[in-house]
Amino acid sequence: MIVVFGSVNIDLVSKVERFPHPGETIAGADHVVAAGGKGANQALAARRMGAEVAFIGAVGTDSFADLALAHLHADGVHLDRVVTVDGVSGTAFITVDAAGENQIVLSPGANAHVRASALEDVVAGPGDSLIVQGEVSMTETEKALVWAKGRGLTRIFNLAPARPVSARLLSLVDILIVNEEELRQVAQRSGVHGGASDVVETLAADLGLGVVVTLGAQGAMAQVEGQAARCPGFPVDPVDTTGAGDAFVGAFVAALDAGLRLEIAVRQGCAAGALACLKQGAQPSLPTRAAVDAFLDK
Ligand code: ADP
Repeated sequence: MIVVFGSVNIDLVSKVERFPHPGETIAGADHVVAAGGKGANQALAARRMGAEVAFIGAVGTDSFADLALAHLHADGVHLDRVVTVDGVSGTAFITVDAAGENQIVLSPGANAHVRASALEDVVAGPGDSLIVQGEVSMTETEKALVWAKGRGLTRIFNLAPARPVSARLLSLVDILIVNEEELRQVAQRSGVHGGASDVVETLAADLGLGVVVTLGAQGAMAQVEGQAARCPGFPVDPVDTTGAGDAFVGAFVAALDAGLRLEIAVRQGCAAGALACLKQGAQPSLPTRAAVDAFLDK
């Protein structure tokens, strides 16, 4: 089983010709309302790959709450440890201009109330995995990692969005997953320099954990427990890359959780990431196991 501890949001996305100046009102295109949040996206991505998944998070008492969990519910992610807290659900207000640049205001809402105590009676142990990200309290995330370590789960930390994290927190992690920009920031803070593959190898050795870096169209590379794996990107014509990173994380961890080799897990993650680029939005674009298998068999 995979336990995902993290955020769930509603994304409100509106396209504009250009961003408004302070005090100005401009018209945008009709907005799109979509469920998101890295925790929820990764839980759904792993579930669509066939893993048994429990999501630990929080929603508010507003009308967005049900919508935020609708895909997870429909796909059979266990949601019994999702708490409802007084107030609003996490909401991202996103505007995208004609050049494809975005501006995002993130209202954390209920995500600020996600607590590791919700994990206490979750039945999981060796052979199971915990995935955490950087969108809920780092103090609670650290407690979740302590919980998972105590029970022998494999601990995966997707350090997204990039933020400073303590050495203590990193010492609780088995595998760190980052994109290129996040890798650059971690490397800078750790005083490591060089190209991505040197940095991955040095960081893995220095921090004593597995490191996986996703490289957008160039695929991904990994260094875990002395093994290296590399998958070049799959050529696709991207429509919207939102959710590609979450698709990678969910599919990669689902493969490891199923006992597959590192190389296969990286390949599965890259295929899921590539497929996630082919549809608009994060959750609707996360591929199923059948879609990934068909894509890899081509
Ligand atoms: P993030 O969305 O977190 O920045 P990436 O952009 O590195 O993460 O994308 C995650 C994964 O999705 C990559 O490792 C890759 O396998 C796949 N991917 C992303 N963009 C593309 C693309 N343009 N073409 C093919 N695969 C892609």
